[in-house]
Amino acid sequence: MTPDPVPLCDINAQYRALKTEIDAAVLRVIGSGQAILGPEVAAFEGEAAAYCGADYAVGCGSGTDALVLALHALGVGPGDEVIVPPFTFFATASSVCRVGARPVFADIDPVTFNIDPAQIAAKVTGRTRAVIPVHLFGQCCDMDAIRLTAADHGLYVVEDAAQSLGAEYRGTRCGTLGEVACFSFYPTKNLGTLGDAGMVTTNDPGVAKTLRALRVHGSEVKYYHKYLGYNMRLDAVHAAMLRVKLPHVAGWLTRRQEAAGRYDALIEAQHLSGFVQRPVARPDRRHVFNQYVVRVPAAHRDPLVQHLKASGVGVEVYYPLALHQQECFQYLDYRTGDFPASEEATRTVLALPMFPEITAAQQERVVSVCSGYLRQRLRTAA
Ligand SMILES: *Cc1c(COP(=O)(O)O)cnc(C)c1O
Repeated sequence: MTPDPVPLCDINAQYRALKTEIDAAVLRVIGSGQAILGPEVAAFEGEAAAYCGADYAVGCGSGTDALVLALHALGVGPGDEVIVPPFTFFATASSVCRVGARPVFADIDPVTFNIDPAQIAAKVTGRTRAVIPVHLFGQCCDMDAIRLTAADHGLYVVEDAAQSLGAEYRGTRCGTLGEVACFSFYPTKNLGTLGDAGMVTTNDPGVAKTLRALRVHGSEVKYYHKYLGYNMRLDAVHAAMLRVKLPHVAGWLTRRQEAAGRYDALIEAQHLSGFVQRPVARPDRRHVFNQYVVRVPAAHRDPLVQHLKASGVGVEVYYPLALHQQECFQYLDYRTGDFPASEEATRTVLALPMFPEITAAQQERVVSVCSGYLRQRLRTAA
């Protein structure tokens, strides 16, 4: 008998647990006749801002929208450069292009996978306007060093916190570690809806006001357009679902951390730590493990992925190609070899199943499938 498959992420587990409340919230929106923005969105914004410790939260259509709105609201545009890591989700860099600016890549710290502050300073020119530190996989960047560099050169700091709602840096939650922070509520994020949604947080009332205008075609008064804005609004049905889930995020993040600790212990116990490098959580941050990403020797990565998939274990490679190597960014004129830490990461990383409801038995299965692969390889090598 083959054991049950272990999914990479169980999207429906939260719905099963909160079905009564979520159904009621959705029906309330259906009955209200207010489909887009409105009181449900305003209420969510207030609750989410409070959770992040920010003065303002502005809901929008996705995490990608959040990045575009944030850059635009700060006045980043044509002729400007924005420093971003090449090892991140595509939208971190594409949003820079969307406002007419140029992404400039700075390599990552190979231990945390986050942008290396020393590399940022080396990439600053007279045209640099902002830097986007991405809190990858659930762990904040080295924000003190980044803020220092940003202050030295007069740069805005735009947090890409899409994967890291609830993560902390030296006791402060992400969301106020720069001028603005961008969040995603894509289904697999720490707080997810049943579709696309996002949010920008800030402590600057002027920026918040501009963000609110930009997301509705740049108008503060309907049909009078102050800015060349966008349709990047948050739907009430998503806000209603997110309001039901938000109070549960604290518990879910604790369970993610517990699951990460269990993986760590299992990898040690099965004597795999020479083969599987565990993620490193810095002691001055709270890593909330949106993903549990390990590294294995490059020659073993793809065969291990295949073995896990064939054994019914969900696995994913975040990310198989660095951004400076993407076809659409060839015009930026980078070469393979320019960002060795990012390129090495693309060859060695893999994400194991991680979600708050994952059970110890499921995790044991994942790790024993990994050790089964290694034993099989050692046998063929002998
Ligand atoms: C998910 C993600 C985004 C984009 O969010 P969407 O809601 O999918 O548009 C941006 N940056 C990072 C790092 C992400 O993981």
